[in-house]
Amino acid sequence: MRILITGGTVLSSTGAVKADVLVDGETIAALSAPGIAVLSSDADKVIDAGGKYVLPGGIDGHTHMEMPFGGTHSNDTFETGTTAAAWGGTTTIIDFAVQAKGTTLQSTLDKWHSKADGNCAIDYGFHMIVSDVNDTSLKEMQTCIDQGVNSFKMFMAYPGVFYATDGEILRAMQRAADIGGLIMMHAENGIAIDELVAQALQEGRTDPVQHGLTRPSALEGEATSRAITLAKVTGSPLYIVHLSAAEALAAVAGARNTGQNVFAETCPQYLYLSIEDLAKPDFEGSKYVASPPLRPKEHQASLWNGLRTNDLSVVSTDHCPFCFNEQKELGRGDFSKIPNGIPGVEHRMDLLHQGVVAGEISLARWVEITSTTPARMFGLYPRKGTISPGSDADIVVYDPAATQTLSAETHHMNVDYSAYEGMRITGKVDTVLSRGRVVVEGNAFHGSAGHGRFLSRELCQYLN
Ligand SMILES: [Zn+2]
Repeated sequence: MRILITGGTVLSSTGAVKADVLVDGETIAALSAPGIAVLSSDADKVIDAGGKYVLPGGIDGHTHMEMPFGGTHSNDTFETGTTAAAWGGTTTIIDFAVQAKGTTLQSTLDKWHSKADGNCAIDYGFHMIVSDVNDTSLKEMQTCIDQGVNSFKMFMAYPGVFYATDGEILRAMQRAADIGGLIMMHAENGIAIDELVAQALQEGRTDPVQHGLTRPSALEGEATSRAITLAKVTGSPLYIVHLSAAEALAAVAGARNTGQNVFAETCPQYLYLSIEDLAKPDFEGSKYVASPPLRPKEHQASLWNGLRTNDLSVVSTDHCPFCFNEQKELGRGDFSKIPNGIPGVEHRMDLLHQGVVAGEISLARWVEITSTTPARMFGLYPRKGTISPGSDADIVVYDPAATQTLSAETHHMNVDYSAYEGMRITGKVDTVLSRGRVVVEGNAFHGSAGHGRFLSRELCQYLN
């Protein structure tokens, strides 16, 4: 099957060019000046991209499908979550395999393969959450890398669950530095936060907004600085996940200014939502409970600036959907029991395009932070993240002039609310190809569970 995408503006991390794109089977065969007859003569299908952008499929480096949390599971399966991702122009996800204490990394990886394999509509990879640092798991980091999983997430938050001590983090970082792994960090001071949470509950402060008030941004800044110091001592590269606070961004920028291999992602919710959403009455605020929490609005300008200066290199979603009914309700009367997570895998490309419309970032930067840099960061380039001959034909045709309103009524994520309900967006996905297969075309979905393949990733390609 040969598909010609013609008449569009091809976007990359370096800019925009008018070009036709020829797809042959699963890969991109050629780019040419518009209208070259030799390309169109033998295409089986022609997609008219006139007036539209043609960009590499989005790569969401941070999702949680079917993730166990506090006695329940995030509500998207690998099938529903990857289908929703495809609808929104994301053609690769990297999800987190979660080591439970007392289990091995290998059994964890096997378990996540059994959940995902054969069920994904788009390609997928895994990061490994290391929650039990010991001689066995440190040794197994190498066997994970041998199986294409080379990024290891640790937590400075959630004592008693995922929390790792500074000593444990140091040991894992030493190991990562030795074998080429990338340490990803949830940087919040969980020990101090747990005290603030206990005090709030004791004083009868139980509403969702307390989730934000008991996790002050300074404690994200402190943990980020500490993680950066540990990374410096060990020589390990460090990737701060879901950075939400200006203090944390300042720490990352400071480290990057010294040339240290420190990187960070933020998420759309921190760019568009705020603690005012957490404070919504009638338990509505629970819809916005995630960690780190939504911050006061003034942090948003810092984050957009971080995206411009590349102190924030990636935007992922931390997609972790829990329904308002039955799931978020577990925390009625005790905010600390509200399942943590906000749905978003479907809307990342649109929300960041809205940043282009608003003049916050350029078109090239939109592609870079949503696709090209995640591909390099997580060892998928040039297979993913670029429209180049030989690359996988993961392609989005995007209509920059279309408008849409985000709503739970129309989204495809398996969750009963939208964090962006009623938000007007300029721009909309028109057509999506996943490895050469048209999976979204206008309002029709042609993808299927099992089309997506596991991606065995190379080591990080973004290091200094
Ligand atoms: Zn997460």
